[in-house]
Amino acid sequence: MRIKPDKMNKLDGRVCFICGKYLLNYSEKDMAYLKVHSGSTIKAKPDMYHLFSCPNCDKMAHKRCWYDIGERKVKKGWFGKSEYILTCPNCGTDLSSKREKKVDWKRGYELPGHPDSEILELHISDVMTWKAGSVFGKIGRAIDNFFQAVGLGSLTDPERNAIARAAQSVGKTIQDVAERVFKIKLTPKQRAELKELRCQNCDAPLPLPGEFDDAVVCAHCGTAHLL
Ligand SMILES: [Zn+2]
Ligand SMILES: [Zn+2]
Ligand SMILES: [Zn+2]
Repeated sequence: MRIKPDKMNKLDGRVCFICGKYLLNYSEKDMAYLKVHSGSTIKAKPDMYHLFSCPNCDKMAHKRCWYDIGERKVKKGWFGKSEYILTCPNCGTDLSSKREKKVDWKRGYELPGHPDSEILELHISDVMTWKAGSVFGKIGRAIDNFFQAVGLGSLTDPERNAIARAAQSVGKTIQDVAERVFKIKLTPKQRAELKELRCQNCDAPLPLPGEFDDAVVCAHCGTAHLL
């Protein structure tokens, strides 16, 4: 499934559980190759890479990281040949049966039982478009560098809870909150002097946060702002 730029906010700020790098970052070795039967190697065009979540624990990683780390070599008996099995490095679940060989990456390796056509596909051109738009959005709407835009999926549990409470106070639930969340970096002094706060998405006035609130949600468009 190709992820278009309008859906990329969902991946913003999230990291690969295997390599620890951002899912929206990639290197040359992540690039997909096609399965060809002539034995030659052909890079998929346009340039793209894939992401895959463990069906058991939901942790997401670059497909290349699954190939490098998830594919384990196991020995068949004392003198037997080695076999390969795909195992989730997080929860330890076996995601394939044992196979005699692992298809080489450049010969179009696909995750056993999860062909490329069924997992998340990111086209490099789309990622570039999203990154350009995202940077512009951050700079264009930032006020004195107070604001930082992040994806809802990248937040910690306490942050999510603060947003859920803030959503409730404007008659919404966490389901109504937009994917793009703004973090506001205020010193205690700046915060005390706060007289007006506007939504970084739609510019509507935001409810002023109480002294112990960690988030405010725009009643108009559902955009959350963490304080
Ligand atoms: Zn990775
Ligand atoms: Zn897992
Ligand atoms: Zn708004």
